[in-house]
Amino acid sequence: MAGVERINFSSNDYLGLANHPALKEAAVRAVERFGAGSGASRLVCGSLAPHHELDDALAVFKGTEAALSFSSGYAAAMGTVCALVGKGDIVILDKLIHACLIDAARLSGATVRVFKHNDLADLEEILVWAGAERQKPSATPAPVGRPSQVLVITESVFSMDGDLAPLRNIVELKERHGAWLMVDEAHGTGLFGEHRRGVIEAMEVSGRVEIQMGTLGKSLGAAGGYIAGSRMLIDWLVNRARSFIFSTAPAPAAAAAAIAAIELVGSGEGEERRQALWGRVNRLKERVIGRGWLLPAVQSAILPLMVGPESEAVRISRELYDQGILIPAIRYPTVARGKARLRLTATASHTWEEIERLDAALAALVSAPVGPGD
Ligand SMILES: *Cc1c(COP(=O)(O)O)cnc(C)c1O
Repeated sequence: MAGVERINFSSNDYLGLANHPALKEAAVRAVERFGAGSGASRLVCGSLAPHHELDDALAVFKGTEAALSFSSGYAAAMGTVCALVGKGDIVILDKLIHACLIDAARLSGATVRVFKHNDLADLEEILVWAGAERQKPSATPAPVGRPSQVLVITESVFSMDGDLAPLRNIVELKERHGAWLMVDEAHGTGLFGEHRRGVIEAMEVSGRVEIQMGTLGKSLGAAGGYIAGSRMLIDWLVNRARSFIFSTAPAPAAAAAAIAAIELVGSGEGEERRQALWGRVNRLKERVIGRGWLLPAVQSAILPLMVGPESEAVRISRELYDQGILIPAIRYPTVARGKARLRLTATASHTWEEIERLDAALAALVSAPVGPGD
């Protein structure tokens, strides 16, 4: 940056796959064979071999009946939520859900309610309310002449806080109240579970989440988004998800790189890279705590250094930048006002020496952090 090398501690390329030779090679080969672009929407004539192979590979990787890739995680969220619910339905979101799912819920036309972050009692209260609401004879009929539906949406690993959703409890609640559950695994895929499918696998709720969502652009090192679930869900989306239907198919190189990434993540090397990542996460935690920062109890590659005031977060970020460390300050509207932070992330490709350089930069800060946001 500006002619000076800086160490990136804010990437979501957790497994270091974006520059892996296997992904680059797959992308280059796809360009040579299929060209730079797809030329049309998938439903017209843009569906190329890598797109079909990617959908199949995603379903096998996730252990679901079917899967569908989108041009981004954002597009997957928009297309899917709007295809599943509308006026007369109810969407219940975790307070800290990603912006793409807030936008999707709003655009869908459904009634939107928000529960306190990871708060099961609050979620249950809203589910009880929703149950009563959908029984009311005065309720607006749902658009396709079916009973009113309730959809709960949460993330498995929260993108700016690094904490995990209590998925087992949420699954029990949504089942008890007859709701659907959509889980965004953007920061869980590739990192959790025996087969590295995500937190849904790790928490053993695989068959009980109707809609699994994620991105191909983080741990998988490529670009695009996906939905995994039942055959019926995927068939519905192919015919109803507007961000899928009315958008040019992703570049074949992106799809091919994602296929290579899925293969890699599922292999022994995937497990080695995950272990390398956790080793670096643990070292970073030690160093950060050793320098006087309070870290929330997170079990992910996202370590939020909570600062509070926006200006203070910007100051610390600048000081680190001057010392060769890149960790941008995360501020409103990405997080709530007064909860600014440095979102520190580890990747499998950080060297131990780079971590020591971060430690030295933290030690040299003009003043210590003011304390955690809460
Ligand atoms: C990054 C992200 C997305 C969007 O995925 P893209 O592929 O970048 O569009 C969705 N949800 C969460 C939680 C994310 O962090």
